[in-house]
Amino acid sequence: MVELPLLPMRGVLVYPAMVVPLEIGRKMSLDALEQAMLGDRTLVLVAQKDPRQDLPGTDDLYRVGVVAEVKQLLKMPTGGSKVVVEGHARCRVIEIRAADNGMVAQVEEVNESVVITDEVEVLMHTLVDLFEVYAKNSQKVSGAVAVGITTDEPGRLSDAIAANLDIRTKDRQAVLEAFAVDDRLNRVSDILSRQIELVEIEKRISGRVRRQMEHTQKEYYLREQLKAIQRELGEVDGDEDEVSDLKKRLSRIENLDSATIEKIEREIRRLEKMLATSAEAVVVRTYLDWLLELPWTFTSTLETSLAAAKKVLEEDHFGLVAVKERVLEYLAVRSLSHEVKSPILCLVGPPGVGKTSLARSIARASGREFVRVSLGGVRDEAEIRGHRRTYVGAMPGRVIQGMRQAGTKNPLFLLDEVDKMAADFRGDPAAALLEVLDPEQNQHFSDHYIEIPFDLSDVMFVTTANFVHLIPRPLLDRMETISIAGYTEEEKLNIAGRYLWPRQLQRHGLSDQEVHLGQKALSKIIAQYTREAGVRQLERELAAILRKAARQIVEGRTQGARITTKNLDRYLGKPRVHHPSVEHQGEPGLVTGLAVTDAGGDIMAVEVTAMPGRGKLTLTGKLGDVMQESARAGLSYIRAHREHLAISEGFESATDLHIHVPEGAVPKDGPSAGIAMATAMISALSGRVPRQDLAMTGEITLRGRVLPVGGIKEKLLAAHRAGIREVIVPEQNRQDLDDLPQHVRRQLTIDLVDQMDGVLARAFHEEGRDGD
Ligand code: ADP
Repeated sequence: MVELPLLPMRGVLVYPAMVVPLEIGRKMSLDALEQAMLGDRTLVLVAQKDPRQDLPGTDDLYRVGVVAEVKQLLKMPTGGSKVVVEGHARCRVIEIRAADNGMVAQVEEVNESVVITDEVEVLMHTLVDLFEVYAKNSQKVSGAVAVGITTDEPGRLSDAIAANLDIRTKDRQAVLEAFAVDDRLNRVSDILSRQIELVEIEKRISGRVRRQMEHTQKEYYLREQLKAIQRELGEVDGDEDEVSDLKKRLSRIENLDSATIEKIEREIRRLEKMLATSAEAVVVRTYLDWLLELPWTFTSTLETSLAAAKKVLEEDHFGLVAVKERVLEYLAVRSLSHEVKSPILCLVGPPGVGKTSLARSIARASGREFVRVSLGGVRDEAEIRGHRRTYVGAMPGRVIQGMRQAGTKNPLFLLDEVDKMAADFRGDPAAALLEVLDPEQNQHFSDHYIEIPFDLSDVMFVTTANFVHLIPRPLLDRMETISIAGYTEEEKLNIAGRYLWPRQLQRHGLSDQEVHLGQKALSKIIAQYTREAGVRQLERELAAILRKAARQIVEGRTQGARITTKNLDRYLGKPRVHHPSVEHQGEPGLVTGLAVTDAGGDIMAVEVTAMPGRGKLTLTGKLGDVMQESARAGLSYIRAHREHLAISEGFESATDLHIHVPEGAVPKDGPSAGIAMATAMISALSGRVPRQDLAMTGEITLRGRVLPVGGIKEKLLAAHRAGIREVIVPEQNRQDLDDLPQHVRRQLTIDLVDQMDGVLARAFHEEGRDGD
């Protein structure tokens, strides 16, 4: 055992019989070197476990090292030294001590006696072969070195190869610690095989990277060629032109926020890189087209004068006094407060009463562009909010489409038929619509297709519906409803005379001198050719007359046409509308009820027959559940009051009743036909004949009380239209009568009742009086 100065090594290892130059800089290493030079130039080289450590302690060093001799020493002006050392022998490190002048170690040299067995020989050959492969494949070993490693001594061979590999200290140390030669050979060949594998992987990866790069370059090159060819053929005027055109369009949009500009520019850059005719480029181009066409910042100047607005409303529509007042109030509130959430206007009423044209008129009155989007039949959320661009043929939703059409950021946006939307598995369009209408959210409305939030807060939304109760509840809560019930005959006369007829004349290029329509003829058209709450059909009939007249004039058959009640059927054919109640004679079991349908209010015949049977009740004519229950309630009332109603005993087990409400294709529901059905049953069972110039509406209870119902105004207008003279209305509907035009009220006798007795007294006039 000897004691030698210890030189800690990091990174490099010196094996026996190897001459290696080292650079020394650390104080502890320089001290050890000095001690060695003072003695016989020998020292022990021991590797640090962690090469990054600057001041290794005794525990940070391995316990096997190499005894070496300093062959040359060169002191550097900077303070460090360059030395050349030669390894002599492996040694075990028994003990390490830290002295004042560097570390000192007790070491014991290892004697490497070698017996070359057959196995060792084979291992040596394998190792040499492997190393040749490695040297060839990796650029890290020069050919000279590879050839230079030829030795018959197996231990030296292993050491030399290990020294030439680019491996971790741990592996180098493992080779150092393998004292037995066959063990060492095995270890080195393991390490070497692994290195060869790594080199292979490395080669594969770099090959792939290179191929990828070549591919991209090739594609780019081909594209450029293709562009050149296309340009030569005059097929495209160059992508550059398209891109610069897009950029120009972008720059024309004033005050666009930077995020949006950024996004659009990014898309333009994407397009630039694409092949002009590829499917993807088409998608991006369409998308950019949408983005650049939307009115991001462009607004029209709004009219703030209420007087001007009032004038426009008056010009466009006859009557509708209350409606116009409400609209003006609404406009006043809106122009005063921009912050306050103003509700959405919802115009409710039957078709043809002018909801759409009123909205158009509001747009004109307030200086806004007008767009109309119909929501009837919309069941897919994507119709409101668009499809994601990943879908083939994706499009923005109807809101964004409408905005593009409007061309300004602050149009009047009419959402038609909000009550005709339906929800299903594709999502709830009403929920999407809610977001559109909510001023808190619609500032950043996001369409799936457009992706960039669009500001809808300057839009004035107006909706229309036929029925309030079909509007989804949350939507209804956001809206202020204005109902337009329908027109009386007199109003229709005015509307037709002042608006529809002159407009149609103008459209057909005719004057009033050429075609004259008399007042009486017009009344006849209204009464006998149309049956509606609004004036849409009326307008169509007028147009039909003018088409015929125009033809006559063009064919030279006449100079001018005068349309009277007499010759009306030459233009429109036979009258089409008959009012049943006026036609038929009174008979038992037939009562006239009143209903509200899609076309506004209408009269409705209720028929009941009683026949021998076992007490069955049959209901036909597409009656809804509520209406059927209402009929049963009426029947129970009759049973309980049989005696009082003068109906023969035992009818409930001996008589079948059949209630039918004609026009079976039209679904009917609601409780409002309750008293009409009960009266018809009583009439059929007792044989008494109800009055035929009378119509009724009201819900019935088991006790015979008459409860209020909806749509009174529409129903009474319809009764008036149909020539009915008297109507029975629930007492509790009294205040609804205030909405009725004065002349209608004057011409109708209205009986307010709250008990079934009162109904029967009016319905069976003559007999009723006897019973009093
Ligand atoms: P809706 O949207 O309620 O179905 P429209 O707005 O389409 O009805 O109206 C049908 C036609 O009747 C339009 O040409 C409209 O100008 C006309 N009209 C309806 N009410 C009036 C009125 N009060 N004054 C003048 N024209 C009217």
